[in-house]
Amino acid sequence: MPDVIVIGAGLVGLGVAYELAKRGVSVTVYDRAEPARAASWAGAGMLAPFSEEMPDAAMLALCRESLAIYPAFVDELRERTGVDARFRRDGTLHVALDGARLAELAAHAQTFRANGGEVAMLDRGDVLAREPMLAKHLAGGLFVANEAQVDNRRLGRALLAACEPLGVRVERVDGVVLECDARRVRGLRTAYGFAAAATVINAAGAWAGELDGVPQHARIPVRPVAGEMLAIAIPPTALHALVWLGHRYLVPRDDGRLLVGATVEDRGFDARVTAAGLHDLLDAALAVAPALASFAVVETWAGLRPGSHDGRPYLGATALGGYVVASGHYRNGILLTPVTARAIADLVVDGRDDVLAPFAPARGGTEPAGAVANHIA
Ligand SMILES: Cc1cc2nc3c(=O)[nH]c(=O)nc-3n(C[C@H](O)[C@H](O)[C@H](O)COP(=O)(O)OP(=O)(O)OC[C@H]3O[C@@H](n4cnc5c(N)ncnc54)[C@H](O)[C@@H]3O)c2cc1C
Repeated sequence: MPDVIVIGAGLVGLGVAYELAKRGVSVTVYDRAEPARAASWAGAGMLAPFSEEMPDAAMLALCRESLAIYPAFVDELRERTGVDARFRRDGTLHVALDGARLAELAAHAQTFRANGGEVAMLDRGDVLAREPMLAKHLAGGLFVANEAQVDNRRLGRALLAACEPLGVRVERVDGVVLECDARRVRGLRTAYGFAAAATVINAAGAWAGELDGVPQHARIPVRPVAGEMLAIAIPPTALHALVWLGHRYLVPRDDGRLLVGATVEDRGFDARVTAAGLHDLLDAALAVAPALASFAVVETWAGLRPGSHDGRPYLGATALGGYVVASGHYRNGILLTPVTARAIADLVVDGRDDVLAPFAPARGGTEPAGAVANHIA
């Protein structure tokens, strides 16, 4: 019998399983689909706590802490598995197409700096010296030096590979139902029978609010927020930084794929790639870098972000004994994977919940809010 069952083999579930197993806990992870393929595969891998909307200081602190421990997390996984998730700290460049927008970016620079961002305003010449592929008519930009990216697909592979020798079992099974009595969890019922466990962790991403068998008082209001993306094949070093134009962004990967993302839509469990979504993304990409027009689009995809009611994830114990939640990471689940893994392991192994209070699953105001806007837009 495992000590802990994790439901969901995305980056969050695998990260938690890995951290628990390192501390000697016996863990089984259940997923009804291929591991590390849902939002964790669909994401852009930006580690951008200053550029992303932060609902409050607690969330900013959590994101900054996760960014701080990211390099060691990726190094450790590479040493254990040989899979390099390619952490790159090349910064984020917010570009302006005209002077009015550049003035808005200059105003945002104060907030970025106050939040811990290492920022600099750039004129057109500076922008083009850094990124010659961008449009020659840009007015300038705002550069945030201490933001980074990781290849989230490689990170998923690294975590899976790291879990196996630690004895973590990853089982593919549909139709799991949480089993509990009036006060605490007993385990999980699956198509193969009943699996007992004293602790069950819900890391089911955008589906975390739908888990069967969870009593009403322990449910969390996670909702899916769809995001569409595409990739263009470019010469590997043609672009360096993450480039943002309002809500849209370009993410250059080491392998020569330039990711263009992402739409943000409240439309239920609908992960289709739409004509309107692609139009919107290509429009932004070609406005910021017209030279992209002649390169090939090599991939399109969509994923479902786990949205929460207030922009913060749900992390920690619930009113149901032994039932722990790690979901609702919305746009920052890749960024928050290392710190989530550590904090949930601290809770399960040592009973420590020092960083978790602001993210308690049972905090007030559980009515879903609208999609969180990007504050730089
Ligand atoms: C287009 C897009 C761009 C993004 N860009 C970024 C970014 O740049 N930076 C960043 O930090 N974040 C980004 N995100 C957000 C990030 O991808 C997510 O927050 C994160 O991947 C969530 O991870 P997860 O493990 O909670 O969920 P998921 O990766 O979705 O995994 C959940 C898993 O649970 C399984 N599951 C669900 N229900 C059940 C069930 N009942 N039984 C068994 N298994 C179940 C699913 O099959 C799935 O494998 C982006 C997301 C999208 C869609």
